[in-house]
Amino acid sequence: MVTPADLAIKDLGPCRHPSPVAEKLGEKATVYVGEADKVLFDDRLSAVLADASGARPPAFELAGPRNRVFWDPKEVRAGIVTCGGLCPGVNNVIRGLVLTMAQSYGVPEIFGFRYGYEGLVARFGHAPMRLDPRSVEEIHRMGGTVLGTSRGNQDPHQMVDTLEALGINVLFVVGGDGTIRGAMSLVRAIEERRLSIGVVGVPKTIDNDIKFIDRSFGFESAFAAAVDVIRSAHVEASGAKNGIGLVKLMGRHSGFIACAAALASADVDVVLIPEVHAELDGPCGLLAHLERRLARHGNAVIVVAEGAMQEHCTSSAEPMATDLSGNLKLKDIGLFLRDRINAHFRARGVEATLKYLDPSYHIRSVPASPSDSVYCWNMARNAVHAAMAGNTEMLIGRWHGRFVHVPMPMAVRMRKQVDPTDDLWMAVVEATGQPLSFC
Ligand code: ATP
Ligand code: MG
Repeated sequence: MVTPADLAIKDLGPCRHPSPVAEKLGEKATVYVGEADKVLFDDRLSAVLADASGARPPAFELAGPRNRVFWDPKEVRAGIVTCGGLCPGVNNVIRGLVLTMAQSYGVPEIFGFRYGYEGLVARFGHAPMRLDPRSVEEIHRMGGTVLGTSRGNQDPHQMVDTLEALGINVLFVVGGDGTIRGAMSLVRAIEERRLSIGVVGVPKTIDNDIKFIDRSFGFESAFAAAVDVIRSAHVEASGAKNGIGLVKLMGRHSGFIACAAALASADVDVVLIPEVHAELDGPCGLLAHLERRLARHGNAVIVVAEGAMQEHCTSSAEPMATDLSGNLKLKDIGLFLRDRINAHFRARGVEATLKYLDPSYHIRSVPASPSDSVYCWNMARNAVHAAMAGNTEMLIGRWHGRFVHVPMPMAVRMRKQVDPTDDLWMAVVEATGQPLSFC
């Protein structure tokens, strides 16, 4: 249940300064976004008509340039920080933020904090980088992040100390769900001190698992790289007697990359994702299905998301380890499946050849694809417009094909996952020929 209040965006005050963007484009330009420009949460006519009370339905603020801004751009000192795991396109976002701030708004000083939230804590000694259009000119050609990244919780008050010491009044955070939670605790510390510092997020999730972003940046680049690996697995599998190609892809809680890569490659026979429970044994289990597939076609390609079937390789007696950020460390389902499948066919006296490919780090580090590059540029531009308008504790989302402002608490309220009763999973089932579930 979403209410209009859930989608309200916090701001630091009224927009009193003329926007340099508006001065450049002239009054007749149609790109400016006004107060009334909203994107309906549920855009079906039936949903809008259903509320006979005449109350405004829940709607997101539309992203884009405002013709008046909160900050006098000449007085903005901006910071950028990138946190969490790598994802294609982070450098494109940094470049887009810097170029839009410097060239469209004339922001004079931009700092890049090093190694995630550590860069905002003085005791780590990571001096911030000065960023300007020249220093970011070429960075989009590289994967990774030029600022570096890290995991691990930091004290929000120490981070605010650094922002205050440097006079930063606008901070852009580029990261996933953990980064957004970190940014929310930063906003609380800023509010406690009654400071005027805006915090705006550009959501980064290679798994595409953040709500209110129909496609996260880097997702397309990641699954395009995954398609190449699946092709290799298919070549290996079809060149061997009873050949099996097993590919592990990213997807800790959400199997979007596995599904998209399987659909794009059309070489995949089984997709295993965290959202769909799968049994190994029994007539309806994965192993029996694999046996039937080999008997009929002589080869099989399996794609498994890293968070799938975890219940098979973890025991309740053994506590699960966590990383520095508190995320559960998953067991390696790829290695587990490799060993179980090999043992199964050995026990049945079937000669099978399994090749296991784990390309995760290769995929995370590729540069952004052309369409992701365009997408990153637009995400970054809209983040700057939002920040200049004095918005805070919000991130840029994409809803019904439009860029919108999403309050941070809404974005982390729940995770976006593949719905096993919805069209994406149906498409995977039809494309692979696998059952709805191995149960
Ligand atoms: P991804 O999952 O895509 O790698 P992420 O942003 O979720 O990205 P994390 O390592 O979980 O990556 O978090 C990034 C940063 O945010 C870390 O420094 C982490 O300690 C911090 N963080 C995570 N959760 C919280 C929280 N609840 N409160 C404060 N900080 C947090
Ligand atoms: Mg995360």
